[in-house]
Amino acid sequence: MNTPPFSELGLPDFLLAAIHTLGFEQPSPIQAMSIPPALAGRDLVGLSATGSGKTAAYVLPALTLVDTKSPWPQVLVLCPTRELSVQVCGEVHLLGAKMRGLHATPIYGGAPMDRQLRALREGAHVVVGTPGRLLDHLRRRSLDPSRIRMAILDEADRMLDMGFKEEMDELLAQIPAGRQMLFFSATMNPGVSRLIRSFAKEPEVIEIKQKSRTVSTVDQSYFEVRQRSKVEVLSRILDMNPPRLALVFCNTKRSVDECAEDLINRGYAADRLHGDMSQMMRERTLKRFREGAVELLVATDVAARGLDIDEIDIVFNYDLPTDPEDYLHRIGRTGRAGRSGRAVNFVYGRDIYRLQSIERFIRQTIRREHIPSAEQVEGRRADIIFDALKERLESGKFDAYQESIDRLLEQGHTPTDIAGALVSMLREASGREGSQIEEDRQPVRPTRRSASASAPHEPRREMERAPRSRLPRDHGPARQEPGMTRLFISMGKTQGVMAKEIVGMLYRQAELPDACLGKITLFPNHSLVDVPSELVEQVMHRTRSARLCGRPFRIDVDRMPG
Ligand code: AMP
Repeated sequence: MNTPPFSELGLPDFLLAAIHTLGFEQPSPIQAMSIPPALAGRDLVGLSATGSGKTAAYVLPALTLVDTKSPWPQVLVLCPTRELSVQVCGEVHLLGAKMRGLHATPIYGGAPMDRQLRALREGAHVVVGTPGRLLDHLRRRSLDPSRIRMAILDEADRMLDMGFKEEMDELLAQIPAGRQMLFFSATMNPGVSRLIRSFAKEPEVIEIKQKSRTVSTVDQSYFEVRQRSKVEVLSRILDMNPPRLALVFCNTKRSVDECAEDLINRGYAADRLHGDMSQMMRERTLKRFREGAVELLVATDVAARGLDIDEIDIVFNYDLPTDPEDYLHRIGRTGRAGRSGRAVNFVYGRDIYRLQSIERFIRQTIRREHIPSAEQVEGRRADIIFDALKERLESGKFDAYQESIDRLLEQGHTPTDIAGALVSMLREASGREGSQIEEDRQPVRPTRRSASASAPHEPRREMERAPRSRLPRDHGPARQEPGMTRLFISMGKTQGVMAKEIVGMLYRQAELPDACLGKITLFPNHSLVDVPSELVEQVMHRTRSARLCGRPFRIDVDRMPG
């Protein structure tokens, strides 16, 4: 879509400066559509998937309301989980980097009260937290709501699914009249619309609609990789299958600079392309890329606009884009003119939600792949050298080198030694210093997603037959996944239990990390839920006095074979 630049959204200079430092080149659609009405003081309902950039869409307007000289909470953000609360606070600090003395604090259940009390006492302008614990603080009067100018509900649908309805109602009822309300939700449902009706005044509804489109000629896969391991993994993939031309997409100019620098330091013919470069420099870089003098071009979406080169073998989403449209544009750079193309995505943690919304958008599944080990890469390099030598031996004549060879033989070196020395020189010339990454030592914990995806290079395993991943609240066919333990709960459909109540009870009472639950299956008089094995004890311990539908229940490891 044609988005206006950040500078046209009405944001003050101190926020534009922070955006510039972060390297965001253009607003995502939800940002472009939400920021102007929010700055104008309107209540908002933003319907947009996770990963669409919605945090900045509300944090930026919220920060314009904060007076850092006043020590009171002025912005309240309700989030479903502690992870999200911490993440939102991080974004507040990044976007508010030019606001001297700005304090944001996360407030969530399961963490010691005293630290939160101290943070609130010391003065937090932006308070971000889960509804239960926020309400605790309101009741204890450690959180004063009287000066709150904006309240934001992030992932409202999820908070309702987790059973926070009463807490949210009670909290919002205590926020002063006249405050601005922003609701963000991935979906609209009766619960969410009831909340909006109760607490918003003539809100502007912004919906990011996504028309689905498919791209059939591009082979798409993803790797689970931490930010700090990305360059190493990128190098390994490149070395396993050296492309002629590859495009590497990053979301920010800063990420482009860092990635390009790392690749150049590792000896790749890489260059960068981003919006801060003059037209002349960009054209020069593009020319070198087209001619093959540069093999790897690291770029932002804006810079790659209009890039018209047919021979790109592979596109990397070094950072997953926030807008699925951008994903399509990016991967549409490969697989052109009847060629086959490959798109590789780097995904970690919460990116998985963004990947899922991209999958829904393109109506295709993106295959998970395993990171090649350093040994596999080394073996592949040896193969490449072997093939090249073999080809040369079969086609070449070496008369011109006879003299050098004779001299070496005369000095007593055997033909095998000479060949060995040459191969080792070739290996050194082509070999790059690889580094150990955390992913080598401990495979990424099998999330529901990773456990279910197929592993093309590995023998067929149990986990490959598992069903496709789902978000925690889905309850698909009951096959247990590796790393998960099935728990029995002594209540089921007859007692009125629904999957979302189990999810809500577990996240709240057992204080589980975000999105860790597996399948939930409901039976008439009992239910089964898969939880990560390492959290079983925590769940059993912390849910001892919990209730479901107002009643106590029994929870135990399921003894029946799955
Ligand atoms: P969110 O949907 O708010 O969780 O954001 C997803 C990610 O996109 C976060 O890492 C943000 O820092 C990043 N992001 C948000 N807006 C932009 C933007 N306009 N350009 C590039 N990255 C962004």
